[in-house]
Amino acid sequence: MRKKLVVGNWKMNGSLASNALLLQGLVENPPVDAVEVAVCPPFIYLGQAASALEGCGVMLGAQNLSAFAGGAYTGEVSASMLQDLACEWVIVGHSERRAYFGESDALVIEKLRMALAAGLRPIVCVGETLEQRESGLATQVVGAQLDALTQALSAAEAVSLVVAYEPVWAIGTGRTATPEQAQEMHVFIRQRLSAGGWVGEGVRVLYGGSVTADNASLLFGKPDIDGALVGGASLVAGSFLAICAAA
Ligand code: PGA
Repeated sequence: MRKKLVVGNWKMNGSLASNALLLQGLVENPPVDAVEVAVCPPFIYLGQAASALEGCGVMLGAQNLSAFAGGAYTGEVSASMLQDLACEWVIVGHSERRAYFGESDALVIEKLRMALAAGLRPIVCVGETLEQRESGLATQVVGAQLDALTQALSAAEAVSLVVAYEPVWAIGTGRTATPEQAQEMHVFIRQRLSAGGWVGEGVRVLYGGSVTADNASLLFGKPDIDGALVGGASLVAGSFLAICAAA
């Protein structure tokens, strides 16, 4: 049985003041035990979030990490630093990092190795662009991203890893994949992971891309959608908690 997981990706949003309100909203109405919940604030606010969330059952994650363990790498944040700030999760290979910061599959793998070695649970993002979907290349693109994972890591190494299917055309656009489109891709993802030697049925596969309190129930009603990676709607406590409740 795969436990549902809802993760809030705050991206580069927030301030000490606005975070305090959002975190207070989460602490006052903590989500139920039946679903795992985590939030991923910007690095600089992890300490604030760790203090505010202590003991309330909402876990903490980061949006990225360095591929290096430590030392003379100006501007980087290491896996051990994330652990130091009570992070349990880390998002790796988000499409915004792949598109704007040149992250390749190879770099994604290096970061995954770092995260796993430190005991962080990675949420690896995969997904196709609109152009790729319209050209009929969606499964080819996602398949190649998954093959990079299964070729680099054994099933045992990857046992804590979560996959997030995030079609690029659905991120921040208000254009959600239909539950049927998401379900179809999630089944494909499991099959492809199994073909690569992993246990596809055991891997949690989240959907991400314009998930809201209004569309979450229908998405979570599909058997292969194990939760969500939520961007915009995770910035308001009420909408994020409603998505958690739908899970
Ligand atoms: P969105 O972002 O919910 O704002 O579409 C999702 C994500 O990029 O993780």
